[in-house]
Amino acid sequence: MVDQKQKKFLLSENDIPKQWYNISADLPTPLSPPLHPGTLEPAGPADLAPLFPTELIMQEVSQDRWIDIPDPVREMYRMWRPTPLIRATGLEKALGTPAKIFYKYEGVSPVGSHKPNTAVAQAYYNSIEGTKRIVTETGAGQWGSALSYACQQFGLEAKVYMVKASYDQKPYRKSMMQTFGGTVTASPSDETEAGRSILAEDPNSPGSLGIAISEAVEIAAQNDDTKYSLGSVLNHVLMHQTVIGQEAILQMEMADAYPDVVIGCAGGGSNLAGISFPFIADKLAGKTNTRFIAVEPEASPSLTKGEFAYDFGDAIGTTPLFKMHTLGHTFVPNPIHAGGLRYHGMAPLVSALFDAGVYEAKAYHQNACFEAAVLFASTEGIIPAPEPTHALKAAIDEALEAKETGEEKNILFHLCGHGHLDLSAYDNYFSGDMVDYALPSEAIAEAMKSVPQIGK
Ligand SMILES: *Cc1c(COP(=O)(O)O)cnc(C)c1O
Repeated sequence: MVDQKQKKFLLSENDIPKQWYNISADLPTPLSPPLHPGTLEPAGPADLAPLFPTELIMQEVSQDRWIDIPDPVREMYRMWRPTPLIRATGLEKALGTPAKIFYKYEGVSPVGSHKPNTAVAQAYYNSIEGTKRIVTETGAGQWGSALSYACQQFGLEAKVYMVKASYDQKPYRKSMMQTFGGTVTASPSDETEAGRSILAEDPNSPGSLGIAISEAVEIAAQNDDTKYSLGSVLNHVLMHQTVIGQEAILQMEMADAYPDVVIGCAGGGSNLAGISFPFIADKLAGKTNTRFIAVEPEASPSLTKGEFAYDFGDAIGTTPLFKMHTLGHTFVPNPIHAGGLRYHGMAPLVSALFDAGVYEAKAYHQNACFEAAVLFASTEGIIPAPEPTHALKAAIDEALEAKETGEEKNILFHLCGHGHLDLSAYDNYFSGDMVDYALPSEAIAEAMKSVPQIGK
């Protein structure tokens, strides 16, 4: 019998997964291949070779269901894994819901989010293939922090282009990257062609993830000892995050509660994939009827308002094109929006599963999410990062619905990071300065014009 009041479900180090789960092996229909930006022909592994180490390229296209986690990476995971799965008994009580609410908490990692799960894997493969330096972009700063940490552990340099708006608003993230040995530059910068071309058009550009990607890719393409790295969106990145869901499966078993609904916030799609893909495997195998919900901000609604089409991964069209839900690669998010989740596209794997009806999607305004976060902090003692407040808000809505219907369902949501470095956003919320901004349909239509006409 499971103790009905048990709050924490903890695993031992032996339970850290030994393999990553590759959902590509189980997709109902195979993914549309990425296209070369020049020829628009399917891009092969050779096209990616200047940017990524061979092993990660092989993982990107692999159809093997399970891929072994190398010992040095698993060793590194022991620093913070297994992460806890916690039953939100305090929140349940405050809501008066018959539903059980569980959350998987990745805020215990060195940088306070799920991102190091893939950062250490990527740094490891680069280190064994002779890379000296990894260059990347970061939005809110979490990915740059994770990569800086991972590079330092494996003896590599990290160079990070940080979106200018965040660089100015989040100085502590910059300090964290520096603490872990990373070099940080505000993007757009005058260090690259891409940055200079954006600055020529708009010297006060707040930057965007797409622009910062263009800068980082340019540096990697020009330097033999330098590779590029992405913290979300790509297949191998999502796969590395599946350690989260694999642990959660064991922990939900301990709680004797298979989830009826699994919820994650969705920016590029990696934390959502991490918590949900291992459960989706059961659903695709016809064993369960679980619902999966992707939650995004109204300010950057690529699933709920975007189009499923081939588009570039970056702002100026130098990366391969991916078939994904996109708002158009020229989309620049409004800086009033506090949280991350600001990328123009959604991971091809998540997009395809959304298209296939496996995921539902919803979008929320940020004030409602922060209201949920403050309730959560008072009942569970954790201050969430702005991004997972979207998942939290959806979990609360599910629990309130259960209260209406009396349904005793099991809700699992992903608390993918803590908000200790995002307190200025909480400050905005408390002072009433937080603006609810929905991306206007004209802005969507405008950015959507940049989506190339392929197969239409
Ligand atoms: C990076 C990040 C996100 C958004 O990226 P996904 O790939 O969608 O997970 C969300 N939450 C936190 C805490 C992050 O660091």
